[in-house]
Amino acid sequence: MTENCKIILKPGKEDSFRRFHPWVFSGAIQRIQGEPAEGDIITVEDWQGNFIGIAHYQIGSIAARILSFTPVEIDTDFYRQRLLAAYRMRQSLGLENGNRNNTYRLVHGEGDNLPGLIIDIYGKTAVMQAHSPGMHFARHSLAEALKQVMGDAIESIYYKSETTLPYKADLDHENGYLLGKSSDDTAIENGLKFHVDWLHGQKTGFFIDQRENRALLERYSHGRAVLNMFCYTGGFSFYAMRGGARLVHSVDSSAKAIDLTCRNVELNFPGDTRHKAFAEDAFKYLDTMGDDYDLIILDPPAFAKHRRVLNNALQGYRKLNAKAFEKIRPGGILFTFSCSQVVSKENFRLAVFTAAQQSGRNVRILHQLVQPADHPINIYHPEGEYLKGLVLYVE
Ligand code: SAH
Repeated sequence: MTENCKIILKPGKEDSFRRFHPWVFSGAIQRIQGEPAEGDIITVEDWQGNFIGIAHYQIGSIAARILSFTPVEIDTDFYRQRLLAAYRMRQSLGLENGNRNNTYRLVHGEGDNLPGLIIDIYGKTAVMQAHSPGMHFARHSLAEALKQVMGDAIESIYYKSETTLPYKADLDHENGYLLGKSSDDTAIENGLKFHVDWLHGQKTGFFIDQRENRALLERYSHGRAVLNMFCYTGGFSFYAMRGGARLVHSVDSSAKAIDLTCRNVELNFPGDTRHKAFAEDAFKYLDTMGDDYDLIILDPPAFAKHRRVLNNALQGYRKLNAKAFEKIRPGGILFTFSCSQVVSKENFRLAVFTAAQQSGRNVRILHQLVQPADHPINIYHPEGEYLKGLVLYVE
């Protein structure tokens, strides 16, 4: 093994690693042997010198992310094996389905035992995103391993980490192709087409994690007046249209998102006059809109990225949902989500409960929604559970 630097844990801090939790918090470290740089491979040991794992080192409150709990070389072959395991799992889910679906998440960080790495597949293009300096430095090795695993199933690999790496680390993180160059920017989800802006879009260009929830929404759309709030690329909007919605209004504060939504609706339903889009702030729109909608989707960005702002986030969810409860038509359906990892399912439900109570409406929970199987949760890393949603019937 090439690594020389070591993290030695404080006595008692080895317990979480016996349960295979992959994060080494800086507070658990007794001392560091050697002078590791941001992104280096490092060995983790307990205070008695027993091996714990091999990790990527980084400066911050998560000081290392364990890649393996057995002593192995971290090289292209290591990444190839992990990527192969992730690919086999996705194949067993039957997500790749010819002309019907070519969009899915191949690697979901800790959920695929590759902490700090995201890879999304859009047809023949893989979009790779590093959330740790270690994965950033491994990008060429990862691209080579990915091509070995997927063969002709992919032609291009786009690397997009400008906004996801710690800003303090001087990493020279440029976005760009690591393999090929995609000529086609359209992908297909459940038979619906959409443009993916992996160059400039949020995340890897599309929110793949809502695929199954959009399919559920389609079932409820027939004859309804739909408001898709925080629409981004309009995913929920074009599903609602296919489901037979009477009208669909998409709202997002970003003009770019509205433009993308309109292009995507046009791609699937050219010239369809049922759809209208508005570039406006959510709270303002909800305040001034009428009370004609009978299907509302609230899928806001993460209101809390850190635990210390949890209370503000819960207030935000409460206020947002209260406005929807106030305006939705009797017999209406509300799809409401939180993608904040620090907001638990219970806390989110409590915020929505409080909003319902304020409105005095009769509200029943029809479905409790989660992230789909291609965004798996490592059982030893419960922090990987982030998306939660409720489908509510409002009398
Ligand atoms: N529902 C989308 C994903 C939503 S992402 C999908 O299925 O793909 C969150 C979106 O909220 C972003 O597009 C962002 O531009 C928008 N947004 C953030 N703050 C907002 C606000 N105050 N009002 C309206 N939209 C907002």
